[in-house]
Amino acid sequence: MSSKHLADRVLSLTPSATVSLPDKARALRKSGIDVIDLSEGQPHFDTPAPIKDAAKDALDQGMVFYIESSGLPDLLLEIRAKLERDNGIDVPTSQIMVTVGAKQAIFTAIICTINPGDEVLIPDPYWGSHASCVRLAGGKPVSVPMRTENGFAIDSRKVEEMVTSKTKMIVLSSPHNPTGMVVSRDDLESVADICKKHEILALSDEIYEKIVYDGARHYSIGSFLGMEDLTITVNGFSKPYSMTGWRLGYVAASKEIMSRMLMVQQHSVTHPAAFVEKAGVTALRECDKYVEDMVRDYQRARDYFVPELNKIGMFSCAIPKGAFYAFPRITDKSMTSAQLVDILLEKARVLAVPGSSFGRHGEGYLRFVYAQTMETLKKTIQRIKESAR
Ligand code: PLP
Repeated sequence: MSSKHLADRVLSLTPSATVSLPDKARALRKSGIDVIDLSEGQPHFDTPAPIKDAAKDALDQGMVFYIESSGLPDLLLEIRAKLERDNGIDVPTSQIMVTVGAKQAIFTAIICTINPGDEVLIPDPYWGSHASCVRLAGGKPVSVPMRTENGFAIDSRKVEEMVTSKTKMIVLSSPHNPTGMVVSRDDLESVADICKKHEILALSDEIYEKIVYDGARHYSIGSFLGMEDLTITVNGFSKPYSMTGWRLGYVAASKEIMSRMLMVQQHSVTHPAAFVEKAGVTALRECDKYVEDMVRDYQRARDYFVPELNKIGMFSCAIPKGAFYAFPRITDKSMTSAQLVDILLEKARVLAVPGSSFGRHGEGYLRFVYAQTMETLKKTIQRIKESAR
């Protein structure tokens, strides 16, 4: 089809590597090739039983119709209480909206706030969809480099340097995909000061907030004084509750922004499935214990996988403090990340994501998901070792 049928805004789009690579792994497996897929950012656990039971009960009780477009009232109340308890964010339910995953919250937030030509600061390496949503809105993603030498911390001096009269937003993701960095309170306060000084919005993607290790703490920029109306807080159920396929997330924002986000939701998806929202109530009310158990398991996986990866000689990786990604630097500088992904797939039948999919500063790295069984991780290490011989 010629591009005359396409809108300009989609012409520069590229596939999401973190979605299309797992599709490739599924296709290879179907054709009989035994691939270990460490490219897909999701827990390997089943969804906790009480959540599944709640969805089944909701269906049996006839929750098969439209509900309130901003979210099931019970779920909005649970989210409101959670934001206050865990994040120190005090918002009325009228400033919360339940969404089809965190992704739809991010898309809607950006569509509602970014004009063509607006600049959006994104610490780089970054999760690709943040930048793609900015481009779809006609905005310009501006990379703020993050460096492995200082643990991929956000350098607030660099942030300040990159602010122009066109800067409208900064995107924050902590714990961070793909690096596993957890932003410190000091760094977050410095970013908040810049936001307040220049009236820049902060889009805070907190989907990995529960997945932190070694005493690391998650902080929400939306709880800082003066950031209440400048912050759009995004979160969801996919990663903490192992509910990636359920497509359930939520967002909190100022009254002004939320009123427009709700209109976009009403004219597009209306709301997530009603019975899924009902299951979300059970997740928030009853399932924190399951989350703690899963996080302990990720920590065990991390403690095995990252040191073993470092022993192979092909990679150098700092121990990540959050999320479930290892983001090692490739020691052989003559090879691109995409080339190494192809080699690992061909020789070791292990699929990782090339760092180049995570922005300009991601080149030279690979991303592995270690939310896997110990057996799978051991097999992965063995295969990579054998392929390196
Ligand atoms: N935000 C980040 C940083 C992610 O890594 C992901 C998924 O990989 C998402 C959002 C998407 O979450 P959801 O499944 O709730 O749409």
